[in-house]
Amino acid sequence: MADVVVVGAGIAGLTLARLLSENGATVQVVDKAGYPGGRLSSRTVAGRLVDTGPTGFQVTDPEVAGVLQRWAPDALSCQLSGGRWDFSYRSSARAVAAELATGLDYRKVLVNLLADVGQHTHVVLTPPAPQVQTIASRSGIEHAGLAAITYEKAPGPARGV
Ligand SMILES: Cc1cc2nc3c(=O)[nH]c(=O)nc-3n(C[C@H](O)[C@H](O)[C@H](O)COP(=O)(O)OP(=O)(O)OC[C@H]3O[C@@H](n4cnc5c(N)ncnc54)[C@H](O)[C@@H]3O)c2cc1C
Repeated sequence: MADVVVVGAGIAGLTLARLLSENGATVQVVDKAGYPGGRLSSRTVAGRLVDTGPTGFQVTDPEVAGVLQRWAPDALSCQLSGGRWDFSYRSSARAVAAELATGLDYRKVLVNLLADVGQHTHVVLTPPAPQVQTIASRSGIEHAGLAAITYEKAPGPARGV
């Protein structure tokens, strides 16, 4: 039994899992996708790997910069200028996610209910709020703060007249 199951292997879930592991916890990461990264992702388009999410990180906190350099030394390159660390991908976002997931117990699981992850001491849900709301309500969990989160619909691309 893991001390903590982290649901979601986006950058939030991966960084949490690495921090917990480094501090001695037994951690399992589950994600509905067969690979880590979530929106930190790349896709093959016409034979080329294309990043579909953020294309780098700009960091001003030295502690965060240090952690990224330690956890993804091969996948990230970094330049420091004017107190800001600019991280870019040496190959792809997918490679960054894979390196961030190094050493983690990663399993492909679609979580519909909290019971889908089995019995563990702690479960942390890191998917976006609407998905967490669904998992919580299907599992019979009422949480006023979670229920109050709403998303504004982003304006879509302009359509032809
Ligand atoms: C094109 C683009 C550009 C961006 N640029 C920037 C930028 O410049 N700066 C910035 O700060 N942010 C940017 N973002 C946003 C940034 O990518 C996200 O905020 C960040 O990656 C979210 O990480 P996360 O771990 O919170 O969530 P996610 O990456 O969404 O991870 C959630 C994970 O949960 C999993 N999951 C969901 N539901 C379930 C379920 N029921 N069971 C199991 N697993 C589940 C998903 O598969 C996913 O892997 C950009 C995003 C895009 C798409």
